Order: sequence, then C-alpha cells, then structure tokens
Amino acid sequence: MQVDQLARTVLWEELVRGFSLTLRYLFRRKVTLNYPYEKGPLSPRFRGEHALRRYPNGEERCIACKLCEAICPAQAITIESEPRPDGSRRTTRYDIDMTKCIYCGFCEEACPVDAIVEGPNFEFAAETREELFYTKEKLLENGERWEREIAMRLEADAPYR
Ligand code: SF4
Ligand code: SF4
Repeated sequence: MQVDQLARTVLWEELVRGFSLTLRYLFRRKVTLNYPYEKGPLSPRFRGEHALRRYPNGEERCIACKLCEAICPAQAITIESEPRPDGSRRTTRYDIDMTKCIYCGFCEEACPVDAIVEGPNFEFAAETREELFYTKEKLLENGERWEREIAMRLEADAPYR
C-alpha cells in the first residue's frame, strides 16, 4: 500500500491526470460566455424590466383600466387617471416600485391592450432605492427604447397565448 502511494507521488500521477483533463477541455467547444461582451439567447417569455408601450402613431396604449394595478400581488403598481377633453381616459400617474416587484408577469397578462410589458432588459441594477421607483415617463422611455425587441417577442409568443 505504502509502495503504491510512494510510486504515485514520485510519478506525479495526480498532476498528470489533472493536466490531461485540462488539455482535453482546452480544445473542446467553450460553454462559457465572455459577459458582458457576449450574451446568451433569451426566451420570448423572459420577464425583465418593465416598459409602457405606445401605438405606432405615438398614442399611449394604456387606457387606465387599472387591471394591472388590481392583479399585482406585490402591490407595486400605482395608477391615477383622468378623462381627456376628447372623453378618452389616460393615466396621469403610472408608478412601479421595482423594489417590490417579483417579476411574476401578471400585470402583462392582465393588460387588454399590451401596454405594460416586461421587456428583454435585465441590466438595470441601481445603486439607490430611489432609482428603482419607476415613473410613467421612465416606463414610456423604456417602451420607446425596447419597442422593436418587445414587438418581436410578443409576436413569437402569440401562438401560445
Ligand atoms: S411583474 Fe408581478 S409583481 Fe411586478 S409589477 Fe407586474 S404584477 Fe406586480
Ligand atoms: S397598463 Fe394595461 S392593464 Fe394597466 S391600466 Fe393600462 S391598459 Fe389597464
């Protein structure tokens, strides 16, 4: 037993086995990504940062029905609304407290006009809590920024909804 142990030590058996394993993986296809320069694919159902969408003519989609506010299990959404001179109803305030949000996606599912959605952006870490209190302006800005990706995502998922 001791001779066997000694032979292994003298012949650096563990070292050789370790190096051969390293060499074997050196020439295989890489499974890691060089984030943030490389990113993996995202499912069309990925639930990332929220956004409020507009119609192509620039009109806000949201009709202030407050279904999203009612269904939100975290009570993260706060909406205030008033009628416009033309009789349509629009929000005057649409806030999401992202520190409360649990990314369940219920708000998106409840919305009858695809106004509030969870987009593909997952890089929205902040240094202060205040930065995570999203206002209507911030959400509309997100909608404008990510509209192309959001529309593609909704289209890809449409057959399964
Ligand atoms: S994802 Fe869920 S928790 Fe977050 S705002 Fe929407 S309904 Fe509320
Ligand atoms: S985002 Fe959708 S569900 Fe929420 S108030 Fe507006 S229209 Fe209604």
